[in-house]
Amino acid sequence: GKPLVEVRNLKKHFPVKKGLLDKDKAAIQAVNGVSFTIAEGETFGLVGESGCGKSTTGRVVMNLLPPSSGSIYFDGQEISGLNDTQLRSVRKNFQMVFQDPYASLNPRMKVKELISEPLIIHKYDKVSIEKRVNELLDIVGLNTSYADRYPHEFSGGQRQRIGVARALALNPKLIIADEPVSALDVSIQSQILNLLQDLQEDLGLTYLFISHDLSVMEHISDRLGVMYLGEIVELADKDIIYDHPKHPYTQALLSSIPIPDPTVKRDRIILKGDIPSPANPPNGCRFHTRCPYAMEKCKTEKPELREVADGQLVACHLYE
Ligand code: SF4
Ligand code: MG
Repeated sequence: GKPLVEVRNLKKHFPVKKGLLDKDKAAIQAVNGVSFTIAEGETFGLVGESGCGKSTTGRVVMNLLPPSSGSIYFDGQEISGLNDTQLRSVRKNFQMVFQDPYASLNPRMKVKELISEPLIIHKYDKVSIEKRVNELLDIVGLNTSYADRYPHEFSGGQRQRIGVARALALNPKLIIADEPVSALDVSIQSQILNLLQDLQEDLGLTYLFISHDLSVMEHISDRLGVMYLGEIVELADKDIIYDHPKHPYTQALLSSIPIPDPTVKRDRIILKGDIPSPANPPNGCRFHTRCPYAMEKCKTEKPELREVADGQLVACHLYE
């Protein structure tokens, strides 16, 4: 499909207090030059350990945070420089589903109030609101009699269904889902993932899906970007990443997933050291302090993300 979202060289640096660090690095480089496109109807995943910048990327794309630099195009229109009024009209096209339905749903609001809030803001009339709330409850698999109950009366999975119904209220094109199943029991996770997949098919939705969980990503994504310290180090179709990971960091991440087939042997790659601080990232390749293959040039020369095989982009000097 055609690209619905295009992110170009996106940076988000958070300034830190002077004096803590040397002058030219006085910022947390949470997102440091990230580029990707999401085709209409696909699920693009951003995967990486906590603190790698994937949530910040989602928030900047969602316009909850302004970028430090770079561009975001939605349906061909640049949205990164829009003022509030201009933003309001495009805003309803993208919605967010959050990790923790417990925290993101106001406990004092009834389900019907939670779901109808975006409709009221966009001035729907009373009759169409009631109709829409019932419709939304139905499409996320909840009984319409739940409309008058409060969030605490529901299980975690049901609450996430309420969160999804609320996100769908205004018929968005893009859903940014940040760890939407991480707070749920594993048995419930696949129900919610299946719901999201069914909704995608029925409503033609496009997803930016953010998760640290490689099993979740294998289930849901079409394409994946692997992030390390604010940068995408590998980007390709899901199957290519899982079957033939090329970046040493991707290889290490994937080596930690248990394989159900006991006859297949895969050595777990244990990385040395901790993730460096994004306020003071290593020069050259940001992964060089932990990479088992690091060479001299990795300490000084930054590898560019480039296509090293059909549709597979990797940022690593090993493939030059
Ligand atoms: Fe490792 Fe060097 Fe490749 Fe970075 S560029 S991942 S340090 S081999
Ligand atoms: Mg996060």
